[in-house]
Amino acid sequence: MELARKLAILADAAKYDASCASSGTTKRTSRDSAGLGSTTGSGICHSYTPDGRCVSLLKILLTNYCIYDCLYCINRVSSDVPRARFTAEEVVQLTLDFYRRNYIEGLFLSSGIIRNPDYTMEQVIAVARTLRIDHQFRGYIHLKTIPEASPALIEEAGRWADRISINIELPTEIALKELAPEKDLVRTEAAMTGIKERIEQSKAERRDNPKGRSFAPAGQSTQMIVGATDASDRVILARASSLYEQQKLRRVYYSAFSPIPDASSKLPLVAPPLVREHRLYQADWLVRFYGFKAQELTRDAKPDLDLAIDPKLSWALRNRHQFPVDLNKAPRGLLLRVPGLGTKSTERILKVRRWHKLRVEDLPRLRVSVKKVLPFVIVADHNAANLSIDRDDLEGRFRPGITQLDLFAGKSSVITGQL
Ligand code: SF4
Repeated sequence: MELARKLAILADAAKYDASCASSGTTKRTSRDSAGLGSTTGSGICHSYTPDGRCVSLLKILLTNYCIYDCLYCINRVSSDVPRARFTAEEVVQLTLDFYRRNYIEGLFLSSGIIRNPDYTMEQVIAVARTLRIDHQFRGYIHLKTIPEASPALIEEAGRWADRISINIELPTEIALKELAPEKDLVRTEAAMTGIKERIEQSKAERRDNPKGRSFAPAGQSTQMIVGATDASDRVILARASSLYEQQKLRRVYYSAFSPIPDASSKLPLVAPPLVREHRLYQADWLVRFYGFKAQELTRDAKPDLDLAIDPKLSWALRNRHQFPVDLNKAPRGLLLRVPGLGTKSTERILKVRRWHKLRVEDLPRLRVSVKKVLPFVIVADHNAANLSIDRDDLEGRFRPGITQLDLFAGKSSVITGQL
């Protein structure tokens, strides 16, 4: 099979994997020695498609042939799709060619399971090892690893890769048994724990020997499929939160389930709305950087995130007793809970208020949206309590208008006012 045809099949097969963002890597530089590529500053540059996926890496599968039968996956053994397989040398050559043409800044490599997990990992590792050793490749490498592979192979993968990841796929053991019978949540988490410990050990070794080789310096990540089962956002966020806490993951990626041809009747016929994926990312952000607990963002009675408004605003509207927040006095943790205040604007407020009592006119200068924050805050010349934060129509002011499908284009149009 021609290389171009293989590339078309195996790049397309890789598009379902969302875990490709490359932020957070340590600086690799070509200045100190001969070598290709460099991930400067805070990490390599990357760009995103409109649905948020990273496209600056060559993102391919080594093969879409697979002996497993995960029902949600188009590459499962029982799927009738064209198959292709790269050799390790072909992936190395493609990576170098694309890199030299400035198409990419690195490689994201995953694979279906060929023969068995160890054989597959050996093939994947061969690509990374050849790039690093034979070609002095200094670009970013993300390797998808297989939890059933032997620890020695995962150890070697981490030696060559900036980031390694294992997909957890589904948030509960029951769902995994139902849809991916060869996979096992306990085994996956055990493999993640091994990687976490190896990363911590590597960090300690680097403190004594800064020039030593790091193990997966950009950490480990995982991906969960959303909407393939009836798992609620509450369950998904609880699992993500425990992975951040216990496995110290750098990222959990959420990938909206895409219906596939000839799918099992156990799967839904339609994809979940993409906005659900977006709301999960927002909630994830609140947990990682805003001090929220995952369970605060949903309720038992309503376990899914509100699709119409963002999770912080939704939380604030349910917890109005915690407002208004005084921007001139409140501690950082409380400021971060105000809808419309991000981490950067919070830092600006903390800095400026040391010298100056904040007024409404100061907010635009601090790049704060007056419209968003005013219903929730007190400043020197404004008190949201006087405007009655409890008013019934407050929530309605933030909800988007009714959406109706266009007659011909099938696109949605938003009705914001009276007809
Ligand atoms: S292991 Fe499962 S998810 Fe991965 S390629 Fe094979 S069938 Fe797809």
